[in-house]
Amino acid sequence: MSISENVRLVQQNMKQAHEKTDQKKQVQLIGVTKSVSSEVAAELLAAGVTALGENRPEGLTDKQAALGRDVCEWHFIGTLQTRKVRQVIDQIDVLHSLDRLHLAEEINKRAKRPVDCFVQVNVSGEESKQGIEPTDLHSFLHEVGQYPMVRVIGLMTMAPLTEDTDTIRSVFQSLRQLRDEVAVRHLPYAPCTELSMGMSSDYEIAIEEGATYVRVGTVLVQP
Ligand SMILES: *Cc1c(COP(=O)(O)O)cnc(C)c1O
Repeated sequence: MSISENVRLVQQNMKQAHEKTDQKKQVQLIGVTKSVSSEVAAELLAAGVTALGENRPEGLTDKQAALGRDVCEWHFIGTLQTRKVRQVIDQIDVLHSLDRLHLAEEINKRAKRPVDCFVQVNVSGEESKQGIEPTDLHSFLHEVGQYPMVRVIGLMTMAPLTEDTDTIRSVFQSLRQLRDEVAVRHLPYAPCTELSMGMSSDYEIAIEEGATYVRVGTVLVQP
């Protein structure tokens, strides 16, 4: 299938999943282009994708040099090394991977305007996964309050690598519950209304469980 057919299919699936929920808010599709060329990224934009996701500073810089900074929203979805913050932070619209206090401190030091961030939470508890432990989330957010350039718009997680959809679903449900617990506190620096969850293999489950952003790569860019 062509890229534009991929986009149309994913959008259709997203719509169907969204219709199963009572959520009014539209779900945002982030086209993850970390493994493809700028040409493919341009095809995604031509097919109507309005946000692209990259997980490495080099990938972001290359794509923006080729396509332009203002052609779409840019989302940084990978672990961000502290020493790369300066290079990246004013070039992105949303960071999905705030996973340690030192990163928040560095963002606060480098950013020229407040940055919309997702706090990455390690819901599944896998050793290999980045993210704040759920039990540490509230104290983490409390600490983040001291950095005015960091604005927590929501929570992000990655589901475990498993075929077991019940397990995946319960991870997404847990993230939603955590998000709701933060949102009701109405912290001025952490409205925390959004949920970034769902990738190629599980974006429909994520939407059914309340995702407001899905990060989809493979099924959009494969030929
Ligand atoms: C690569 C990546 C994605 C997209 O994964 P696909 O399985 O290709 O859809 C989403 N989120 C993060 C954090 C990623 O690194």
